[in-house]
Amino acid sequence: MSVRTVELIELHCVDHCNNNCRWCNSHSPFAPDRTYDAEEYYPWLDALVRNRIGFSMLSISGGEPFLHPRIFEFCQKLRQRYAKRLMLSTNLFWLSEFDIEFHRPLFGLLHTLRVTVFPNMVRGLGGLERVQKLLERLKATSPHVYVDVRLAEEHFCRLEFTAEPLDVNQHCPCAESVNLLVDGRLARCAPGAYAHFSPHAIQEFRDSTDMFYDLRQPDADFWHWKYKWPMDACSHCTHFRQERSQWKVESGTRRRRELEARYNLNLGAQLEQDEPTPGILRRQNEALIVATPPEVRAKLPAACLHGNVYYMPRRQGLHARE
Ligand code: SF4
Ligand code: SF4
Repeated sequence: MSVRTVELIELHCVDHCNNNCRWCNSHSPFAPDRTYDAEEYYPWLDALVRNRIGFSMLSISGGEPFLHPRIFEFCQKLRQRYAKRLMLSTNLFWLSEFDIEFHRPLFGLLHTLRVTVFPNMVRGLGGLERVQKLLERLKATSPHVYVDVRLAEEHFCRLEFTAEPLDVNQHCPCAESVNLLVDGRLARCAPGAYAHFSPHAIQEFRDSTDMFYDLRQPDADFWHWKYKWPMDACSHCTHFRQERSQWKVESGTRRRRELEARYNLNLGAQLEQDEPTPGILRRQNEALIVATPPEVRAKLPAACLHGNVYYMPRRQGLHARE
């Protein structure tokens, strides 16, 4: 029996994000912190393989994947088990000379790094020219990776929900991929897969009977489900119209500083394993990561500590003691 193939299976390694974009397809600004292990996806990816439903590429997204504390291991496990091309999406908040070097083993696992360039991240990274220079460096140090760069300004489409059914008169690119959730459901598009996070997704949209295919009880024909168009959900969602919009910030809590501090701490902790001597391990933007001797550690705020590693925002004034 031959194997039919879907191009892309998309899955989250985290749900949360340090950015706060309006019309985020994964509704990440509303998602609680959630970090996934690769093993959580094994039963369902194995089920696809068993049922001869092929996939050419695994797309690892979120949320912001670089917030996963063990993103290398996450990707490595999927790569080793399924031997498929991997794509990783990111908002680039981590971009620096240091991080390009640090993440080289991760880039070694990837086929594509999908980068979306956001105005607020560009500001934090020191301007567009610096971002471009760093991306050139990344391409030069990991030449086998296809770095697919998109500008948020050109990329965002309105994602709104309406109780009054719309006439769906064109195809929606969101429905090209298949989204796998850890509970064993597949969803036809990301906005539907993660609608449970969004306070804006209306009941008519959530009640869709076309959106999910349940691998725990696969009683329908997969290919019929995959290619049905339009879905009932589409008539309550504006995304098929592909109305481009300027990038905008979603209302609500912003957790950028906290989540990026956690990323820095995690990197500092990994570095400390290789270099256990107390001292400055890493400088980036507004932060220092310092491995601390025990007598100093006792006096530091717990929120800034991760093992022996201390994260110091420069605004606390500690940079004066470098
Ligand atoms: S960067 Fe924006 S669009 Fe991307 S996951 Fe985060 S909130 Fe969503
Ligand atoms: S129009 Fe349909 S496929 Fe596109 S995002 Fe909305 S529900 Fe998903």
